[in-house]
Amino acid sequence: MTVTDVIEDVEAFRLRARAWLADNMPKLDPDAVPPAPGDDDEEWVKTRELQKKLYAGGFAGICFPKEYGGLGLSPAHQEAFSQESEPYQMPLLLNVPTFSICAPTILDMGSEQQKRDRISAAIRGDEILVQFLSEPSGGSDLAGLITRAEKDGDTWVINGAKTWSTCAYAADWALCLARTDSDAPKHRGLTMFLIPTKAEGIDMRRITQVNGSTEFCEEFFDNVVVPADAVVGEVNDGWAVASRQLFHERTAVGGGSPYVSGRGTGRLSTPPSDLAEIARAFGRNEDEAVRELVGESRAQHVVQDQLIRRVSQGIESGVMPGPAASIMRLFHAETQWMLDDHAITIAGSGGVTGKDNQSLAAQLSVNYLMRQGSSLGGGSTEMSRNIISERLLGMPREYAADRDVPFREVKRGR
Ligand SMILES: Cc1cc2nc3c(=O)[nH]c(=O)nc-3n(C[C@H](O)[C@H](O)[C@H](O)COP(=O)(O)OP(=O)(O)OC[C@H]3O[C@@H](n4cnc5c(N)ncnc54)[C@H](O)[C@@H]3O)c2cc1C
Repeated sequence: MTVTDVIEDVEAFRLRARAWLADNMPKLDPDAVPPAPGDDDEEWVKTRELQKKLYAGGFAGICFPKEYGGLGLSPAHQEAFSQESEPYQMPLLLNVPTFSICAPTILDMGSEQQKRDRISAAIRGDEILVQFLSEPSGGSDLAGLITRAEKDGDTWVINGAKTWSTCAYAADWALCLARTDSDAPKHRGLTMFLIPTKAEGIDMRRITQVNGSTEFCEEFFDNVVVPADAVVGEVNDGWAVASRQLFHERTAVGGGSPYVSGRGTGRLSTPPSDLAEIARAFGRNEDEAVRELVGESRAQHVVQDQLIRRVSQGIESGVMPGPAASIMRLFHAETQWMLDDHAITIAGSGGVTGKDNQSLAAQLSVNYLMRQGSSLGGGSTEMSRNIISERLLGMPREYAADRDVPFREVKRGR
């Protein structure tokens, strides 16, 4: 080990970060006005600028290896930086899926070139990565997808459709899973590709959600040509790459990713989530039943923080297997549901006023409608329960009629 390889002490790193953040990053603005629904491009321009600032200051990609543009430091360094960065604007929109899901998947499974090109470009703030996994025919049975890639000389030609791709409109590259061998059983005929989101033949459309956000996209692939080196991992071994990606996704959604920098979602329009404040706003903070709800939700959050720490350290040290990430993922959904349910209970009849005004009650009613998202994103709650029961508790595997059957013989649809 040379002198330059000596890893900086976490507390020294924290103090250096504190001073740098104060001198360089803009403070959070409590009066910032959220962009109009569906028109958040400004947030993305700002996000890229903030990431470039972090990179220029030497505080980007804290847990990524140095050879791919990161700092090669530990999760403890990242945690210290995230704590110090709380009062400042941060490029939080890049946390999921760019830094916590896509970049770690490329790091684990990609070619040397893919790592050097894509991870370092993301850390520099030049590129954004997203996921093209789910399809209109369903996302839980990911291995049953029907988008296909066919070999044509040195290239691959992709046809099909993807959906629910978070923020794909703002992205540059996507990890896209496609079927490359229909004669093999469903898990064995898939290949992962790293493709430009603006490639010729991709028709991308935005989907409007109940809260007015249009961050979800759907993509239609019409003879999209990608080179042979777009393959991540091995041809027909895409399930291994997807499994790693799903692991990173569950860890990220569950709140345990070491690649997340800063706290929060990054949306200026982040919905209200402090139940005590909500209770005060509705004049119910002295109501004993309401105080119990506030306490229960607070306790759930404290347990969640401890659970994340325990499970992520367990996985990192090898004491717990990778599927344990589903515990964090499941608990995240349960905690979110409890918060949104209690908020609407506290708001009472005010919480059913509809979504067409900006009142707190209206925001809470929209949150309540949106809460389903937390039990679908990152794989559904039911799939998390399946994984926990089958792969952690050793319960019998769910029956699957399509196991070991060539994919083209599998009955689909009705
Ligand atoms: C916030 C958010 C962000 C997302 N981001 C992305 C993204 O960036 N890229 C991307 O590709 N996808 C993304 N998704 C899609 C997500 O991965 C899918 O919604 C999820 O995998 C479920 O798929 P589905 O919606 O098609 O539901 P389906 O698979 O059709 O399932 C419908 C219901 O049936 C249940 N179910 C299905 N199979 C079983 C089973 N075997 N046992 C028990 N219950 C079962 C499910 O739990 C669910 O409740 C996102 C979703 C959300 C909500």
